[in-house]
Amino acid sequence: MPEMTKIDSYAMQHAREYGHDCFIRLLLHSSFKFPETLIDEEEEIYRWVIKAILQRQGSRTVGRLLANQMRRKGYNCDFELVAGTLIGEHYSWGQWRYQIESVRTHSTYYSDEFIKKKGIRKEDLLVYKLVYKYGCKHCRQIWLHKDGTPKLYTEDFVRNQSTNYDKKPNEWKPQIGLVHPGCTEGGIKIARLGIDNLTYPKIFDCDVQDR
Ligand SMILES: [Zn+2]
Repeated sequence: MPEMTKIDSYAMQHAREYGHDCFIRLLLHSSFKFPETLIDEEEEIYRWVIKAILQRQGSRTVGRLLANQMRRKGYNCDFELVAGTLIGEHYSWGQWRYQIESVRTHSTYYSDEFIKKKGIRKEDLLVYKLVYKYGCKHCRQIWLHKDGTPKLYTEDFVRNQSTNYDKKPNEWKPQIGLVHPGCTEGGIKIARLGIDNLTYPKIFDCDVQDR
């Protein structure tokens, strides 16, 4: 079995603590129509997710194996999406926790002048996500400016949003975890002055979002 990284163990911890919530949210997500009886398979699906994290299996592989297993029970859903979303959600939080912890051991990323200019508090962290090719217009609108530059939010703002699962797409808010299961957003990242502006030259030009 591959050795677990810190991110793997944080993802695992999130799965153990919030696996049930994430599963329910996925079942109820307004953009999918999963059969209600899938709730009976929660334990089974949870075991697959845990095993995937432990063995670092990709969601494609797990999804395929899970689909085979579930087909025998009469389910014909997109299990690659189920596995991908659950594993993706746990890893988003795992990566996030890892980043936050690294910040505590490094000096802050912003100068006093920058903090003042942006109108943020000293303790604020600015965060962003990328939306890759084929991302839907809602996710693009949440995370990107029209020219493709990532939008900046304070971590506090994102962390305090309620979940999106029961909302219409135009009411979706940014999330630390996934905004839209099956879409193509990347993990949340801390925007570091002097590092991220090399990759995304205009990232710090716009106002901090609050929507
Ligand atoms: Zn989307």
